[in-house]
Amino acid sequence: MIDLHVHTNYSDGSTSPADLVSLACAAELEAVAITDHDTLAGYDQARFEDPRHTLELICGVELSTRPEPESIAGRRQRSIHLLGYFLLCPPAPEFRIWLQHQQAARRQRNVDLVANLQRLGLQLTLSDAEVYGRNQVGRPHFAKVLCDKGYVVTMQQAFDLYLADDAKAAVARDEPSLEEGIRRIRNAGGLTSLAHPVRLPQQNIELECLVAHLADMGLQGIEVYHSEHDAAQRATYQDLARRFDLIPTGGSDFHGQNKPSVQLGTGLDSNVCLHYSFLEQIREMFYARACTR
Ligand code: AMP
Ligand code: FE
Ligand code: FE
Ligand code: ZN
Repeated sequence: MIDLHVHTNYSDGSTSPADLVSLACAAELEAVAITDHDTLAGYDQARFEDPRHTLELICGVELSTRPEPESIAGRRQRSIHLLGYFLLCPPAPEFRIWLQHQQAARRQRNVDLVANLQRLGLQLTLSDAEVYGRNQVGRPHFAKVLCDKGYVVTMQQAFDLYLADDAKAAVARDEPSLEEGIRRIRNAGGLTSLAHPVRLPQQNIELECLVAHLADMGLQGIEVYHSEHDAAQRATYQDLARRFDLIPTGGSDFHGQNKPSVQLGTGLDSNVCLHYSFLEQIREMFYARACTR
């Protein structure tokens, strides 16, 4: 079994890279792709923690990219997540330097977000969120702080009221376009895959148009298996993959205790169960394209 969508505490997962390697080995996983948000630091650390390579670790990333149009009917749209998989070898330094710019944009977003929340009368500081996001502060960490302080009852309420892209404290972060994300990952030797399409506001015919457009831009894959996809959605996304010649990818989107219902390797109630042959298929399709395009 494998899992190709996993977060560590170098982004908004709760599990350290060392613990993730142990968990994956205990679950007898054969391969894991670490796909932290806009950073490779969790993967770098995990490699360091597993010097004997007991587990096949794949270098991945999940980029936040700007939606187009940025707002629909006056509502700002949620960022579109793009997965990158470096199947042959980790990306060149140029890509890492570019990711550092994304990190800087995140830090500025966090400063602006705190200011917006304070303006709304909420008493919290960046340090409060840094307690949870020691390596990188993300909005789920702010959601936890808002719960702790009693401003909201659930993390989802924190998003709905304050943190979501169209909520009261939202910050328009400087994000790359999807086109730039695809280009950066591809130039660094990676495979690009559209993450959890279920979260996109576009579905059905609109999703089809978006996927056609992205495939023209150079998108190579689409996440078919994900803990938030039911059987019907998996079938729909598999069909899109077939029609637009995209490589199906999949993983649980494990975030440890920050999303306790999702298990490493199996997702939500075992709705993601991928065999090693799935990774082999991805590799074969990716290399076949690299040779012909
Ligand atoms: P960040 O990367 O810091 O901008 O935080 C993005 C993360 O926050 C996403 O990966 C989701 O886990 C979560 N998130 C964003 N928007 C929402 C929303 N509207 N409702 C629930 N969770 C959200
Ligand atoms: Fe996340
Ligand atoms: Fe995501
Ligand atoms: Zn993810």
